[in-house]
Amino acid sequence: MKLSFIGSGYVGLTTGACFASLGHHIICQDIDEQKIRKLKKGECTIFEPGLEDLLKNGLASGNIEFTTNIKRTIRESEIIFICVNTPPKEDGHADLRFVERVARDIARYLDEYKIIVDKSTVPIRTAEKVKETIERYSDKKVNFDVVSNPEFLREGNAIFDILNPDRVVIGAENERSKNTMLRLYKTIIKDKKIPIKITSVKSAELIKHGANTFLAAKISFANLIAEVCENAQADASEVLEAIGLDERIGTQFLRPGIGFGGSCFPKDIKAFKKTLEVFGVNHSFIDAIESINNRASERFIKKIEKMLWVLDGKSICVLGLAFKPNTDDIRNAPALKVIKYLKDNGAKIRVHDPVAMPKVKNIFSDILYFENPYEAISGSEALIMCTEWDEYKKLDMKKLFALMVTPIIFDGRNLFNRNEAKKLGFKYHGVGKQ
Ligand code: NAD
Repeated sequence: MKLSFIGSGYVGLTTGACFASLGHHIICQDIDEQKIRKLKKGECTIFEPGLEDLLKNGLASGNIEFTTNIKRTIRESEIIFICVNTPPKEDGHADLRFVERVARDIARYLDEYKIIVDKSTVPIRTAEKVKETIERYSDKKVNFDVVSNPEFLREGNAIFDILNPDRVVIGAENERSKNTMLRLYKTIIKDKKIPIKITSVKSAELIKHGANTFLAAKISFANLIAEVCENAQADASEVLEAIGLDERIGTQFLRPGIGFGGSCFPKDIKAFKKTLEVFGVNHSFIDAIESINNRASERFIKKIEKMLWVLDGKSICVLGLAFKPNTDDIRNAPALKVIKYLKDNGAKIRVHDPVAMPKVKNIFSDILYFENPYEAISGSEALIMCTEWDEYKKLDMKKLFALMVTPIIFDGRNLFNRNEAKKLGFKYHGVGKQ
């Protein structure tokens, strides 16, 4: 099928590359000329395991092409996926100006029946607005359908998630658009047992915000347990593991840490809160999720400050900058909050991350960046673990001990073996335990 993806970021690019690998013809479009120039040359603009190969194969087979030309993109595709960013406005509402701009572009160039799919995460009733906008700005009477098809990929695992989703949600209002979307997704599902939920457009829009709010709630619940465990000298990991063994609850996302970040959870729960407000529903549930999440990073920072007493002049190493492993995405990464506080209080910061450092360099120019974690740790008075990259699990603890001036670990992800660290002589501070 001929598909286009408007917005070639984490979602548009990875989804486009996956559909290209299945033999569809893909146009990935973006307004960012530099991004498109790089992609045309096969250069990945984001770090996502497996993406580079898909991109190279797609370009070689001619199944994927990149352009800034919106007219061609719209005219030459049967299904148009809107994958632009929907950042939060200052008041928490989703900023839908990029979605609206795409709807206006579609109105301008629509010349025959197309399906327009909203893949960006948007509040309930956005599809209605997209439809209205296209009708309002179009001078021809062309038939089209707007479908909601929320994306559930996890950065760092995106290729696998797109090709092996837990479920596919298609919010469609008529048989024609529903059947075309089913035909497309059959090429992903094949004979795998993947549930497809066909819903109304509004339900589909709500499913994405609902799912992200629930996941964020699980993380905040884990951090609430961590808080009480730290005060009462219990062990949150033990408590949460046992809670999660109840099949109704499950162990995933029940780990204490320094709070969730990234481009999705913080903005999506804010947007959902605004949706609740618009529909007259109390949002104290979401207020609690946010407040626990903020406390998680603040508690961690206070713990560091309390233990180190004076931060001014201290050499502190931070390992892991991305908001989670296997991605270079640093949007709302807890590491940035930690670094900012320590830096503002006079600490000298040394950092390492396997892939996210180039992005952080645009934010902090006055910290030291190292290509090797051991070099970053060398001579430091404390080690702060912010992102649980696999390569950090394999660090030689004896070597770390020898390299540090004062061997103190603040492990925001409970990545190290606490007993081993203590046995080696480290002062070790995890999350959710004393
Ligand atoms: P992103 O910022 O990585 O990419 C968005 C792209 O859209 C950018 O390249 C930008 O230049 C482009 N763009 C903006 N306006 C445009 C326009 N008018 N025409 C063409 N291109 C335009 O964002 P993302 O992380 O890919 O997220 C996109 C949407 O998908 C968001 O709504 C997000 O909430 C949702 N989502 C993201 C993830 C994720 O893990 N990143 C997962 C599921 C859903």
